[in-house]
Amino acid sequence: MQNLLNNITDVMTQATERGRVADYIPQLAHVDPKHFGMAVATPDGQLFTAGDATMPFSIQSISKVFALTLALGKQGDGLWQYVGREPSGDPFNSIVQLEHESGKPRNPFINAGAIAVVDAIMMGHEPKEVLAELLSFVRYLAGDDSLFFDHEVAESELKYKHRNASLAHFMKAFGRLQHDVDKVLGAYFHQCALAMNCVQLARAGLFLVSDGVNQASGSRVVSAQRARRINAMMMMCGHYDGSGEFAYRVGLPGKSGVGGGILAIAPGKASIAVWSPGLDQIGNSLLGTRALEMLVQETGWSVFGH
Ligand code: GLU
Repeated sequence: MQNLLNNITDVMTQATERGRVADYIPQLAHVDPKHFGMAVATPDGQLFTAGDATMPFSIQSISKVFALTLALGKQGDGLWQYVGREPSGDPFNSIVQLEHESGKPRNPFINAGAIAVVDAIMMGHEPKEVLAELLSFVRYLAGDDSLFFDHEVAESELKYKHRNASLAHFMKAFGRLQHDVDKVLGAYFHQCALAMNCVQLARAGLFLVSDGVNQASGSRVVSAQRARRINAMMMMCGHYDGSGEFAYRVGLPGKSGVGGGILAIAPGKASIAVWSPGLDQIGNSLLGTRALEMLVQETGWSVFGH
């Protein structure tokens, strides 16, 4: 595994076509596209790393997996009255479907759906309390108390909030959000601004590898059924309108973020985090996807077979 990661990292380090870094906020636009990191964590506690695996980056939409897990814990299946669970086939920040579907977002991983999930987690609490809970949950999953929200990123998201604010107000107009729009958005922007490195992210995904149990720490995080269902959501919706392509090329439940990270789960085998800031046209990490494709090609870890 270590040799494989080294090989993949060599290939990715030399790649000249690296995609384009997200530029909707300066904090992401200034990240060097040359970075590449990867970490593989296995249920028996092994960890393999390569490249910039310990350099923190903005996990952005990967945080939606953790928020969904928390929301299911609070609301159970009741969550599905606020958000659907079908792939959208539209870009991550699209408003089009919302109009046709009475303000109910297609799934928890497009922006509108993630905003609805934050609203469902709040349950009358202030954003500060919700964020403290989310942070301690992700710290617990990663087994690392040093995780933090990058407040500069959150401030910047707020400054350039117009697209997400439109989605939130549109849902509010349909009576889909229970809480004040600004409070929900404030919490959503901080959630996206969670900074993590590949090692922390791979460890945080371990509960999805082993039927809801983080075997490295011995703790049950969710039931086996819930872990299976979260993996299904990641497979179908984790890469926005590129989810079909990701399933075709990689064949693992995965969640991408515009910071260039991807968390991928090989059930029973490993939790994998990869980071390369340059994105493809849909907004998924260009080299991150290539790296995962190489990994499954060699390991046969795709859930669809070798
Ligand atoms: N903060 C980003 C946004 O709301 C999240 C999108 C992503 O990571 O794909 O635009």
